[in-house]
Amino acid sequence: MQPKTPLLPVDEARTRILDSLTPKPAQTLDIKDALGRILAEPLHARLTLPERDVSAMDGYAVRAADCAALPARLQRVGESAAGHPWAGTLAPGQAVRIFTGAVVPDGADTIILQEDVVASAEEDGASITLTEAAKPGQFIRPAGLDATAGDQVLSAGMVLSARAMALAFSCGHHAASFYTKPRIGIISTGDELVEPGSIPGPGQIIASNAAYLDAFVGACGGEAVNLGIARDRPGAMLEALRSANDLDMVVTTGGASVGVYDHVASDLDSSGGALNFWKIAMRPGKPLIFGHVDGIPLLGLPGNPVSSAVCSMVFLRPAIMHLLGQQAAALQDEVISARTSVPLPVNDQRQDYVRATIGNVDGDLPRVIPAFKQDSSMIKVLANASALIIRPPFDPAKQAGDIVQIMKIPPLL
Ligand code: AMP
Ligand code: MG
Repeated sequence: MQPKTPLLPVDEARTRILDSLTPKPAQTLDIKDALGRILAEPLHARLTLPERDVSAMDGYAVRAADCAALPARLQRVGESAAGHPWAGTLAPGQAVRIFTGAVVPDGADTIILQEDVVASAEEDGASITLTEAAKPGQFIRPAGLDATAGDQVLSAGMVLSARAMALAFSCGHHAASFYTKPRIGIISTGDELVEPGSIPGPGQIIASNAAYLDAFVGACGGEAVNLGIARDRPGAMLEALRSANDLDMVVTTGGASVGVYDHVASDLDSSGGALNFWKIAMRPGKPLIFGHVDGIPLLGLPGNPVSSAVCSMVFLRPAIMHLLGQQAAALQDEVISARTSVPLPVNDQRQDYVRATIGNVDGDLPRVIPAFKQDSSMIKVLANASALIIRPPFDPAKQAGDIVQIMKIPPLL
């Protein structure tokens, strides 16, 4: 009898996959089109923010020395509004009416709130009486408060959020360098599969994995290339793969075991490419194929929808993020503590990803409710889950209320 090969730990498999992938080169994009893209280079401010000292309030720009003795009477000599600076220089005894965001005139060093001023009229030449003392610099946003031209304002590897977009535009940029989206080919395998939208005949099912992966790849920032259904015969998967150009990675579902109808591994082998066939110490999803066909990395996921989805979260998501130039730290699963609502039996040697929903906070931590049934074919359970309880190999039995580690399922995945 052949000795059983030990199961490969999840982290080890993930590291091996990531180590074999190289981020795509960068491209210049309009910032307005780059939401969610990853900066390939740091962004430096071209403009100083604000460019000049500006008022943070509506009021009067004055010289602090003029309001040492209260009440102080000053003469209004002009107005500075946002977009309409006052060009003069403030002399002793003078005040300029000012509004939020307007440039503080030369000579002024403080802002008096309009509530602290009695004005004889709202026009130049009017006399104003200050009823409150003013500290120099109060209610003034000094030039460069937010950024000075030349400062690094965003670092390479950051995801361009709507907020980062606003900053980039404010600092005078309209284009920047971003990592290129990886093109991910998706191939379903199986004689039983029909395309979504068709009515399955006897023994047939709808190829939902491809639809899942299509959306999944897009949500992770990649470009999905649907390569259809490869039937259960030797060579079909390779034909589908070779029908596309410029793929950065290929993902297959199904046919990943060693049954007579499973051809992904043998196709990969016959292509002359490097083949790794791993039995991963995880549940769901034991068989996982990783290799290269024509130099293109191929990830062969199991066919069961839940296995294929969980393996996508654990292996494909970090792979896409890595190809997109994300930093290593961002590729780790975000794991938080929660309290299980029911007892859990001792775990075996496979890392378990238990479909569950997050409930209310129970004392200090959220409660997590495992789904009653954990069969890897049950899409309904997966679609209604909001978290996966991650149980490491040989995790001891848990009582209700014990702490477990959970990974929140990203809402779009
Ligand atoms: P396999 O790994 O090919 O033996 O498939 C395992 C199970 O997953 C079988 O019940 C298949 O019918 C099912 N399956 C395979 N591919 C898909 C798919 N694209 N969508 C939904 N179910 C699938
Ligand atoms: Mg199959």
